[in-house]
Amino acid sequence: MTSPEEFLAAAEAHSAHNYHPLPVVVATAEGAWMTDVAGRRYLDMLAGYSALNFGHGNRRLLDAARAQLERVTLTSRAFHHDRFADFCAQLAELCGMELVLPMNTGAEAVETAIKTARKWGYRVKGVRDGRAKIVVADNNFHGRTTTIVSFSTDPEARDDFGPYTPGFAIVPYGDLAALEAVVDDDTVAVLLEPIQGEAGVLVPPPGYLAGVRALTRARNVLFIADEIQSGLGRTGRTFACEHEGVVPDMYVLGKALGGGVVPVSAVVSSREVLGVFRPGEHGSTFGGNPLACAVALEVIAILRTGELQQRAAELGDHLHRELAPLVERGAADAVRGRGLWAGVDVNPSRGDGRTVSERLLARGVLVKDTHGATIRIAPPLVISREDLDWGLERVREVLGV
Ligand SMILES: *Cc1c(COP(=O)(O)O)cnc(C)c1O
Repeated sequence: MTSPEEFLAAAEAHSAHNYHPLPVVVATAEGAWMTDVAGRRYLDMLAGYSALNFGHGNRRLLDAARAQLERVTLTSRAFHHDRFADFCAQLAELCGMELVLPMNTGAEAVETAIKTARKWGYRVKGVRDGRAKIVVADNNFHGRTTTIVSFSTDPEARDDFGPYTPGFAIVPYGDLAALEAVVDDDTVAVLLEPIQGEAGVLVPPPGYLAGVRALTRARNVLFIADEIQSGLGRTGRTFACEHEGVVPDMYVLGKALGGGVVPVSAVVSSREVLGVFRPGEHGSTFGGNPLACAVALEVIAILRTGELQQRAAELGDHLHRELAPLVERGAADAVRGRGLWAGVDVNPSRGDGRTVSERLLARGVLVKDTHGATIRIAPPLVISREDLDWGLERVREVLGV
C-alpha cells in the first residue's frame, strides 16, 4: 500500500465504523506538523484533542520513553517499581493535592472518580447505602463507558446502549441556580468540565465555577473537575479552574498527561477522599506502569516551570484576537475559548463543520468538526507563532474572509 486511497479503502474494509476520520493517512509527525503517506505536510491544529499539547515527537518525552524502554516497562501493581513513588509525589505536588490514583484512559479516570465519590459518600459523608447521587451538566463529555454514557445528553453517545446506570442528575451547564436546586443530602459530587471541550469549547459564565465551589463546600459535596482536555496548559494555566481561582476536591487528568506517547490518566485528590480505597477495591493492570510514569514525570517537569502555560496564554490571546473578526464579517456565528483552544461556530453560508474541515485539509491544515457547525482549533502548545498565523490564514481563506 502506498497511495492514500489504498490505505483509506483498506481501513474501511476491516474496522468498525465508530469514527468518521478525515481522509488523510499520516505516516510521520514532528512538532506541530504531520506528513501523510504521499509526503504531503499538514499543520496539526487539533493536537489529538489536547493529548499532544507538547507536540509530536517531543525530544524530552521521547528520550524519557526510550530510556525507560531499556529498563523496565511493566510490572503490574503486584510489585513496586522505581518510578512510581516519584510520579505520584510530583503529580500530587503539581496539583496541590495529596494522593494520586493512576489509570490509563480518560474514561477509566472518570470511572475512578465516580467510584471514589460514591465510596467517600458512604464512608465519610454518611449517605445511606445505594443512594449516592452525582450531579453532572448537560452536553457533557466524560468518556464512552456504559456508566458514563448513562449521563450523556448526546443521543449519538447514549442511544441503544442502555440499560443505564442510575445515580446521576443532569442540570444545564453554567446555571448555578439549577445546580443548587438538585443538590440534596444524598449528593456526593458535582462532576464538571471547567470548559466543555466536545460540546464545542463552551466556557461557562464568569463566576460559575467559583459558585459551584462555594455551593459544594457549603453542602459537603465533592467538586470533581474533569480537566482531561482543559488541563495541563491548554488554557494558559496548568488547570482551567485556575482562571476562577478555584481548587476542586479532585482533578481528573488524562490526554496530555501521557505526552502523546502512551495513555496515562489519573485522579488526584486529598487524603480524606482518595484515602477511602483499600487493596482490591479498584485498579488496573497497566495503571501507573513504569513507562507511563517515566513519560508523565517528564510531562510534569515540562509543566513545572510554567513557561509552556505562559506561551499558551500569549499565543492564545493572539489566536482569539485573530478569530474575533470572523464573527464581525459574518463567517462565524460565535467564537469561544480560552488559551490555545477555540470553538468556531461556522455560519451556515460557509458550509458545515465537516465541509470546512475537509477544505482546510485540502489546504494543509488539520482540524475537526464537532456537533455539526463547530470546528475546534487546539494546536500543540509548542506551535510557532508563524505556523499559527499560517494556519489562521488558511482558516480565513476557506471561510471566505
Ligand atoms: C477525552 C475526554 C475524556 C475521555 O478520555 P478517553 O481517554 O478518550 O477515554 C473524558 N473527559 C474529557 C473532558 C475528555 O475530553
